[in-house]
Amino acid sequence: MQATMTVNETHNPALRSWVSAANIAGCDFPIQNLPFAVFRRQGSHEAFRGGVAIGDQILDLAAAAQTGVFTGDAGTAVQAGVQAGVQAGAQDKLNALMALGPQVWHALRLALSRALREGATEQAALQTCLVPQAQAEYDVPARIGDYTDFYTSVYHATNIGKQFRPDNPLLPNYKWVPIGYHGRASSIGVSGQAFHRPVGQTMAPGASEPSFGPCKRMDIELELGIFIGGGNALGDPLHMTEAEDHVFGICLLNDWSARDIQGWEYQPLGPFLSKNFATTISPWVVTLEALAPYRVPFMRPAEDPQPMAYLDSDANRQQGAFDIQLEVGIHTPKMREASQTAATVCRTSYRHAYWTVAQMVTHHTVNGCNLQAGDLLGSGTLSGPTLDQAGALIELTQGGKNPLQFANGEQRVYLEDGDAVVLRGWCEKPGATRIGFGECVGTVLPAKAR
Ligand code: CA
Repeated sequence: MQATMTVNETHNPALRSWVSAANIAGCDFPIQNLPFAVFRRQGSHEAFRGGVAIGDQILDLAAAAQTGVFTGDAGTAVQAGVQAGVQAGAQDKLNALMALGPQVWHALRLALSRALREGATEQAALQTCLVPQAQAEYDVPARIGDYTDFYTSVYHATNIGKQFRPDNPLLPNYKWVPIGYHGRASSIGVSGQAFHRPVGQTMAPGASEPSFGPCKRMDIELELGIFIGGGNALGDPLHMTEAEDHVFGICLLNDWSARDIQGWEYQPLGPFLSKNFATTISPWVVTLEALAPYRVPFMRPAEDPQPMAYLDSDANRQQGAFDIQLEVGIHTPKMREASQTAATVCRTSYRHAYWTVAQMVTHHTVNGCNLQAGDLLGSGTLSGPTLDQAGALIELTQGGKNPLQFANGEQRVYLEDGDAVVLRGWCEKPGATRIGFGECVGTVLPAKAR
């Protein structure tokens, strides 16, 4: 059994932190979570560096390194987190920490957990290393060399397939192959990202030739992002039993999608300009070890093909999936003016995915393809079995036929200029401490004048 699957002393629900906000019920960042981000003080010219969320604070890894509190593997890991901005240039981010592997990540998590507990002798030294989250700004947590987006919800694949190909919704390879495509890393931004509505070619229904202009069907995709830790050498595939040792952690991901551009361009080679103008991720990366209490069995309906041997393992069957609760909110300009909160349009769980993290990593490398530290895998839109669990507007509105009605009287089919989309994720169950992913927010700006 891999270390990342084992519940240990760091998950104990009885643990409390000397950072009092971490002990408030419902907090995203209790001491049982300890996710990583890259941050600096808002409006400062400080270097970005690694930090760990605890309550409403960030433990600054650069400051913590100076205290000498962390030694051995944990000290090595803290030094790697410092390199986020100070030593190797702001481009290097958490890649060095991600590359260290699960034993070192575990050593750091254990040391952080012990040093942040109530009564820890390290409190005096580390108290000076805290930065309030309210005063922080974030950067994309890693230098993402390559970004691959998968398609792991069979419900999403079927719902979308019905709209693009009514006669042939689910293609025959779906239940055998974890489908994916190579995405664009350069336009991935951290929560708070705002982007101009894309412009491009579209083919209106019944038209004889395409038209050109701003996207009219601006959509979202509720996904999770999987950050690769240590990579694999070119030509050396990863096997199911080792795949998760190469995964650093998971963040929230919104794969913004221009459906009208997509519909015209996607055959024969898949999404291109309909997807690569922006992708927004949460600043916080929750480690697989933090998620250990929330693992659930990976299950396939008996009538479906079972995974081929290279995509199968005992551990995957027993606890390859994660029960991560997910929610999408739309915050319109009118709601913001009226100080109203976002309207929730979807609730679902990652447990419904048809392929697991381990299967994505294994399949990605089966041909010898090399993953590298900081690479990002998108899960694909995580629609659940029912329509209110759909993670994209094209599904929620059934291709625009049923607009979403909001409590303030507004309605939406697709996103309008000024709309912000808020993704949230968290895990909770009896006997374990609730942990959260924070939020992932992005805003659609008007198309740029040409
Ligand atoms: Ca996607």
